[in-house]
Amino acid sequence: MYKLKGRHIIILSKVERSIIIEGYTLLLLQPVGLSYFVAGKGINMVNRTRITEEFCKLVSIDSASFKEREMADVLKKYLTELGFLVTEDNAYEHYDSNTGNIYGFLQGALPGDPVLFSAHMDTVEPGSGKKAVVSEDGTITSDGNTVLGADDLSGVVAILEALRTIKEKGLPHRSIEVLFTIAEEVYIRGSEVFDYSIIKAKEAYVLDLSGPVGTAALKAPTLVSFTAKFTGKAAHAGFAPEQGIHAIAVAAEAITSIRQGRIDDETTVNVGIIEGGLARNIVPENCCLKGEIRSLSHEKTLSESGQIKEIFEHTAKKHGADIEFETSFGCIAYEINKEEEVVKRFEAACLALGIKTDYIATFGGSDNNNFVRNGITGIVIACGMNEVHSCHEYTHIDELERCSNITLTLMTC
Ligand SMILES: [Zn+2]
Repeated sequence: MYKLKGRHIIILSKVERSIIIEGYTLLLLQPVGLSYFVAGKGINMVNRTRITEEFCKLVSIDSASFKEREMADVLKKYLTELGFLVTEDNAYEHYDSNTGNIYGFLQGALPGDPVLFSAHMDTVEPGSGKKAVVSEDGTITSDGNTVLGADDLSGVVAILEALRTIKEKGLPHRSIEVLFTIAEEVYIRGSEVFDYSIIKAKEAYVLDLSGPVGTAALKAPTLVSFTAKFTGKAAHAGFAPEQGIHAIAVAAEAITSIRQGRIDDETTVNVGIIEGGLARNIVPENCCLKGEIRSLSHEKTLSESGQIKEIFEHTAKKHGADIEFETSFGCIAYEINKEEEVVKRFEAACLALGIKTDYIATFGGSDNNNFVRNGITGIVIACGMNEVHSCHEYTHIDELERCSNITLTLMTC
């Protein structure tokens, strides 16, 4: 049995179950083995004022990578108040940190596997003394001296608001897992050391993407960092330059010998740091290059890394210099098929809320790279952050509200 009250009810197939909330009807449908849901368009149960106040409050908490203690304590308290079983892992033991990843589980009455919602607690620098400035038109910025931290507090707030709405209105929901991670901004270190055996969900929504809400990233790159240490030979630059091996010159030749920038439509290479030399009058003995390779194709990242190593070694040898070449993985590429249920549920939630969807590949890594690597089918969804990693970073109350509504819908259907 169900009642139709909203103007925009869409029926896809046989009705499984319905919930009537504040004059709107949610119809839970079960076509060909997949759970869908539709809802009255315009459903808006989240609390705009609460969203804005919470966002401003969290922005005021300093939470640089590896220094998330205060943020973690606040979020643990919130989750506990919302009825979650909350634990903090020992991620801090792996790093010079004082905080672990915060995990929470809330049993739900709706059938189906638990769903994981995740956002990261840390923000990039400059991030000390952040302050949210709310304009009359609903735009929120920092005061211009720091980042805003919408990356990723917009995601944190959407998760909290959805949960608060569920509690306040007594909405039936799926079993929900929440993971607030540390150190995402420094190559997803927090999620790297998390123990995934405790996660029950097979699907995850990672709220950590810039762009209009409704955007989701289904594809992300492998990222390899490399460090090349060239060792030449020191000599007096005035008395005996011919006795030296100029490590900076060797490194410079090496850099110009490799392909850099956009290699193809899915691969980039960048040498971002060069350090070397001791004094004006010494032929430099050492030069260190640091760079990265990223590609949506894991294999391409590896082959590009191999080529760079070969060219660097060849150049060093040509000039009688030594080289040490080291690489480390920042994250591993993944691609989620559009036909996966995790995507279809997102599509249905956005459709129900009248939000346009857009599926993209991102060139940035996120905790989702680690989730997928650990067997969880996750996608990264936009949560209302723009111009991230800059002092011009901003969000908008409308976007925070839209993302909260999507999150609520995903939790309750
Ligand atoms: Zn982020």
